[in-house]
Amino acid sequence: MPSCQLCGKDSDNLKKTKIEGAVLRVCNSCSDMGDVMEQKKEKKKQKKRKKTTSRRPRETEVLANDYGSRVKEAREDRELSIKELADDMNEKASLIRKVEREDLKPEKALAKKLSKKLGITLYVNPQVSEHSIEEGDERDATVEDIADIKGSE
Ligand SMILES: [Zn+2]
Repeated sequence: MPSCQLCGKDSDNLKKTKIEGAVLRVCNSCSDMGDVMEQKKEKKKQKKRKKTTSRRPRETEVLANDYGSRVKEAREDRELSIKELADDMNEKASLIRKVEREDLKPEKALAKKLSKKLGITLYVNPQVSEHSIEEGDERDATVEDIADIKGSE
């Protein structure tokens, strides 16, 4: 029967455990002292990793430079007056006017409302270096993942 590399206890249920940098085959109680590196075949880590790469940070969206004219043109296309549009949105006409003149940058909530109402886009995604974001996600790979890869060879 194999025995625990830490306490010497005989056990046929030894766990590959990383303890203070060394990988040892230890019994159940000794495995609590480190990180168990068990190779579980049913793990679905790979699926998880794919998911994280599709994540996009929304806060990188910025207001379009020509947001005022986008609003104005869309409003005029619909033959709405500033007041009609404002009333429709429960906003002040002066607010909409300022936005159209680009005197006021609409905050996201207002921009969203305008976009929906007029069918326009006010917040746009600039060229984001998506590559660096994906690289950051690679750190999700753990020691366990590496053990999995080795185990499936
Ligand atoms: Zn032990």
